[in-house]
Amino acid sequence: MLIPLNEENLRRAARCLASGGLVAFPTETVYGLGADAFNERALARIFAVKRRPFFDPLIVHIASLAALPRLVDVSALGGAGRERLDALSRALWPGPLTLVLPKLPEVPGLATGGLATVAVRFPSHEGAAALIRLSTGAVAAPSANPFGSLSPTRAQHVERTLGDAVDLILDGGPTEIGVESTVLDLSEGCPRILRPGGASAEAIEAVVGPVRGADNPLDSSAAPPASVRSPGQLKGHYAPATALVLADGLRGLARDDECAYLFFSRESYGEEGGAKNVFILSEAGELIEAAARLFDVLHDLDGGLWSCIYTERAPQEGLGCAINDRLAKAAAGSAGFTHIPPELRRK
Ligand code: AMP
Ligand code: MG
Repeated sequence: MLIPLNEENLRRAARCLASGGLVAFPTETVYGLGADAFNERALARIFAVKRRPFFDPLIVHIASLAALPRLVDVSALGGAGRERLDALSRALWPGPLTLVLPKLPEVPGLATGGLATVAVRFPSHEGAAALIRLSTGAVAAPSANPFGSLSPTRAQHVERTLGDAVDLILDGGPTEIGVESTVLDLSEGCPRILRPGGASAEAIEAVVGPVRGADNPLDSSAAPPASVRSPGQLKGHYAPATALVLADGLRGLARDDECAYLFFSRESYGEEGGAKNVFILSEAGELIEAAARLFDVLHDLDGGLWSCIYTERAPQEGLGCAINDRLAKAAAGSAGFTHIPPELRRK
């Protein structure tokens, strides 16, 4: 049931979480599907509702640093790790940064995909923080969408895709940042970005110095990790049902009336005015605006009107890294390869 986010409904949602229910709620990144992090039955329901494989761990949301000792084995971090945790939590929490840290045995394996680490985030969204504080203080919440599909940036996206399988959906309007949090592994040696997101590599490096990560434009030394260490790295996440093609040189492509063309900026489109099948993520080419609109625009374009969505990359810096990561995965996960570009079609 979709209800507005207000004080009364926050209390109702908190009671629902505390009694093992599932609540979808807005954060500053995307909408989350929350359950009490220590209630295994509720956690199992998250996986069932999302049709998410059990190996894909959840992010545990907190609303106070005092919750960390219930989740994290700080002694296993070592001195340098503790210093990084301290500095990052002071500088970038609350905010769109998830830290992967050694877990305490009490944290259910379901929340962590059976890993020895737990992912923790302190969201800045006031409604989300209030909900977490009013409930159990530790709310496991992946994005509130079916596994592998477009992330939800509005309550209506959640209602449309998960509907009655969720006990309550708190409607707090569109989310501010629009892409998921950055996942940073602090559990061993040099910090590594496992998934680019709302906190830029630049912002993280300003606090703890060099970080590794294949998507970090500042890390020229980075060899990609030997195996997938974070399921957010899987190709084919965040995909629309419509074929999506990530095309370099989008401007020069012959246009087809059946297809939608999503440009990054007015400048990259290179023309005044528009056409009914041309869309622009951010007129002024601002990364913040482009990220905030990304999933919303993709949800709209995925409505069945277009046979294919052609799009292009954002500049690979700051939030652009998260945008490009989501677009590459959307292209890999969609039926993009089945689309035959007009110039190759038999006349
Ligand atoms: P979601 O909440 O749907 O945005 O997905 C959470 C993502 O966080 C997962 O898909 C993983 O990529 C990442 N993650 C969560 N916990 C861990 C962990 N313990 N180790 C590595 N990555 C994690
Ligand atoms: Mg997700």
